[in-house]
Amino acid sequence: MNSPDTSAGSTSTPRLRASLKTFPPYVPGKAPKRIDGLASFKLSSNENYLEPLPAVTDAMVAHAKNPAVYPDDGALALRTELAERLGVSIDELVVTTGASELLVALTQITSDATTEAIYPWPSFEMYPQTTGLAGSKRIEVPVRDDGRHDLDAMAAAITDRTSLIILCSPNNPTGPALRDDEVRQFLTQVPDHVLVALDEAYWEFATAEGLVNGVDLVADHPNVVLVRTFSKAHALAGLRVGYALAHTAVIQGLLKAVIPFGVTDISQAAALESLRHSEEVDVRAKEIAAVRDEFAHALRDQGWDVPEAQGNFVWLPLGQLSSAFEDACVEQAVAVRNLGDGVRISIGEQEGLDRVLAVAAAFYSEHFD
Ligand SMILES: *Cc1c(COP(=O)(O)O)cnc(C)c1O
Repeated sequence: MNSPDTSAGSTSTPRLRASLKTFPPYVPGKAPKRIDGLASFKLSSNENYLEPLPAVTDAMVAHAKNPAVYPDDGALALRTELAERLGVSIDELVVTTGASELLVALTQITSDATTEAIYPWPSFEMYPQTTGLAGSKRIEVPVRDDGRHDLDAMAAAITDRTSLIILCSPNNPTGPALRDDEVRQFLTQVPDHVLVALDEAYWEFATAEGLVNGVDLVADHPNVVLVRTFSKAHALAGLRVGYALAHTAVIQGLLKAVIPFGVTDISQAAALESLRHSEEVDVRAKEIAAVRDEFAHALRDQGWDVPEAQGNFVWLPLGQLSSAFEDACVEQAVAVRNLGDGVRISIGEQEGLDRVLAVAAAFYSEHFD
């Protein structure tokens, strides 16, 4: 039926926001293909391949309360523990359903069709989604060849309409983390009324010297908001818990944009228990970081130009060859993440990583030697 149908009960589609046409939907990491006789590995979502600590799963069971009752909306116990550990006030914290909800809320409180948002690219796929949905003009500033933010270009992109800047450290998917000195120098070029979100979803895995620390940065800058999550190093992605740290004026704004009762009591209890075991969580994150360094090193030995990896993943800048590489991994029962400009491989069990290394070696000799 090609002619417009104006009759009652027409099948025309509802009028959705025009901004929906300006960005793609979020595409989650693929599940690995099942192949007889081969264990499969999902290295496509930056999940933690270690299980949560036993004390954390115990806390989940212990806090499985009457589901007819809403959870604690303010996540008071969790915020209290976070405040103590970070040396901040509970009024400077908000707990949300993963850092994802925070990214949505941050754009809701800053962005509309009259504003501009600046973020690096490639970076986390939710940035175009949330800023695009708000109707904001999206200024994607390409990362440098070494995968680092181009902070000079990001500063140069600021206009009167800029309302939100997002920094991602370590940057998903390229890998490098931001240094404290470069971020502080960058902030001298950002007007005080522009909100700067620092997304530290992977900070526990970072091992380089002199890196930015969002907690210190927020203390010095009322326009900075720190975004963190329990999904990655704490291995609680399935429970959806994240938090923001910012000055109270920003938190007050965020509280108007977050969903009431979003984080269940079970999730709050698990995050709290995991936080109480932060030292163990940190040891495990550093173990994963060591596997990451070895894996990145092995790829560089094959000849690949791998950017500095500071998260629980490694970036292969494959360009046009990304899909072919992804397919070759799928044939080995390994799911990796093809992001168009390259392929991101999450750190997982050694067997899966070894299979990726074998694919990479064959690929390199076929295309570059
Ligand atoms: C995984 C991730 C998040 C958030 O994940 P949640 O599970 O929603 O907490 C935020 N930012 C980046 C860069 C990520 O990779």
